[in-house]
Amino acid sequence: MLRIRNKNKFTKRILMLLLVLVCIIGVLWFVISGIISLFNKEDEDTMEDIQGMQTLEETNNEPEVTNEVMQVSSNVGINSEELNQWNLKLVNKDNSVDSSYVPELEEIDDGVMFDKRAITYLKEMINAMYKDGITAIWVASAYRSYEKQEELFKNKVEYYIEQGEEQEEAEKLAQTVVQRPEMSEHNLGLAADFNTVTNEFEETKAFQWLQKNAQDYGFILRYPKDKQDITGITYESWHWRYVGEEHAKIIKENGYCLEEYIDYLKGAEEV
Ligand SMILES: [Zn+2]
Repeated sequence: MLRIRNKNKFTKRILMLLLVLVCIIGVLWFVISGIISLFNKEDEDTMEDIQGMQTLEETNNEPEVTNEVMQVSSNVGINSEELNQWNLKLVNKDNSVDSSYVPELEEIDDGVMFDKRAITYLKEMINAMYKDGITAIWVASAYRSYEKQEELFKNKVEYYIEQGEEQEEAEKLAQTVVQRPEMSEHNLGLAADFNTVTNEFEETKAFQWLQKNAQDYGFILRYPKDKQDITGITYESWHWRYVGEEHAKIIKENGYCLEEYIDYLKGAEEV
């Protein structure tokens, strides 16, 4: 009798043990299948990327997309039409802006105007700075009409003439500080001059913030210190130009100035 009872107890224990084992296996199966499906999803994403790249390769006739920059710019999908798009417009000593060019404008603050298509990004950027505790930031100058720029340039030339320079030399000197009207980015309504419009701006938290984050809002430092020979303009820490997020990020990543980036895009287009 005792033996039978012990046997029953033993069988019960075995059954309990089996039940626990089944439960553990069930839980393990659930967890493992979850992890596997997660990995599969990542694979799918990668596959989509690869397929996307292959399509681009086909259209570009490129045997291999090996470097990072090529991939990004291929994704930008540049063609000659886009190279001339409003946000990539290059204005410098070799590329003038038509005196009749007037973009659709919107007011940032107190009569300061910006291109209507880009103003949201400028506002978002400034709001983000405020959120990060940087409140000493303001747009001192943005869009300037051809006439306004002409006036600024003339004033600068006059200043140098008063300093004893000849007309030609005065114009040359003026041009390093103020752009000739047809060569000023401010005519595009895509450039913002911050705060004091001097290189004191470089010492501010606002400048540091812009250096770190401006590309996320589509802005670039247009006249960097180490690109003066290419831009033809002396370093301007206060002058930031909207080009669009995609372009700004590539420019920042590669340490290009706008001239170099446009050249690079033209090169990529020819491939
Ligand atoms: Zn400026």
